[in-house]
Amino acid sequence: MAEQARPVEATGNGVTVGPMADVMAGMPEVWRRLLAAHIPDRLGRCSGCRSASGPGERWPCSLHRIASDARRLHDQRLARDVDADGP
Ligand SMILES: [Zn+2]
Repeated sequence: MAEQARPVEATGNGVTVGPMADVMAGMPEVWRRLLAAHIPDRLGRCSGCRSASGPGERWPCSLHRIASDARRLHDQRLARDVDADGP
């Protein structure tokens, strides 16, 4: 009686961007570089991921999504900082 091993499903799409984007929001030069590098090519694949891991992820890739999330968080914090009275 041979038991069949079930392949573990890789959940590449279910990336939680929350904590990563939160940390990255404080590092504008990091997400700026990511947004500049991870752009779609003519086939709708990510150029930044293609050079890193061969075939390339479909754009927007997870890194681009994290980076754009970080940019949004950064902008929100910037707006809040302007609103609040500094020391
Ligand atoms: Zn990418």
